[in-house]
Amino acid sequence: MKLRSKFEFARFVAVLNIVLVSVLLISACSSVPLTGRRQINIIPSNELHAMSFDMYNQIKDTARVIRGTADARMVERCGKRIQKAVEEYFSAQNKSQLLDGFEWEFILIDDPAVNAWCMPGGKVAFYTGILPYTKNEAGLAVVMGHEIAHAVARHGGERMSQAMVAQMGALGLAVALRDKRQETQALFMGAYGVGAQLGGMLPFSRKHESEADELGLYFMAMAGYDPREAPIFWERMSQAGGGGVPEFLSTHPSHNTRIRQLESHMPKALSYFQN
Ligand SMILES: [Zn+2]
Repeated sequence: MKLRSKFEFARFVAVLNIVLVSVLLISACSSVPLTGRRQINIIPSNELHAMSFDMYNQIKDTARVIRGTADARMVERCGKRIQKAVEEYFSAQNKSQLLDGFEWEFILIDDPAVNAWCMPGGKVAFYTGILPYTKNEAGLAVVMGHEIAHAVARHGGERMSQAMVAQMGALGLAVALRDKRQETQALFMGAYGVGAQLGGMLPFSRKHESEADELGLYFMAMAGYDPREAPIFWERMSQAGGGGVPEFLSTHPSHNTRIRQLESHMPKALSYFQN
């Protein structure tokens, strides 16, 4: 093709950019398993996981990790049981690739904060401060299912992708992605870096919280934990005051909304529980 002027060339480049970015954004769209919601994920999982695993190791080096106690064993047992159920479910659906690169790990940290979280790629931590509220293994499974759901639904990657688009716009994104290591690193630190110091991370959106509640309910049920424990747990949780800001209370749907949403998903969850 022969371009007649500088102006025409600039216009050609601009159009090409828009086409490339559109293709990129469309190909970066995926849907969340079970809920089917469309989401944007432009950050490659292997990159996200590498940063997550680094951060998790740093936290393990600096936090007081409890090993070998009955509580620590319960956290690990419950986590592995739900992990196995999720793996079996995706395998039966021919969707095992959704868990590619996951390296599951479940630890208990000696810390009074009422908190638990899961970083991308299946890195879970519970704090001892939440145990009085989870009370028993089924209560723990409610939180475990919710946290595992954040990772399986790739909420972390989606949040970072949204931030990237918002900060840079579609065209700036193409430039940033050429140099993505630095950009994604900065976003990851923004989202998760606080974890190392404060034992928390930026809150997820209300939409992500509701979705994690729904998927968590299915996941615990698939693992053989009675999903009817979930509304009972959240009832106990709503009585919690002080003692830190759990990631799942920071932007949570209001208590009544949460219970109503859980009840509306209960028939489907019970069908998983009974199978
Ligand atoms: Zn959450």
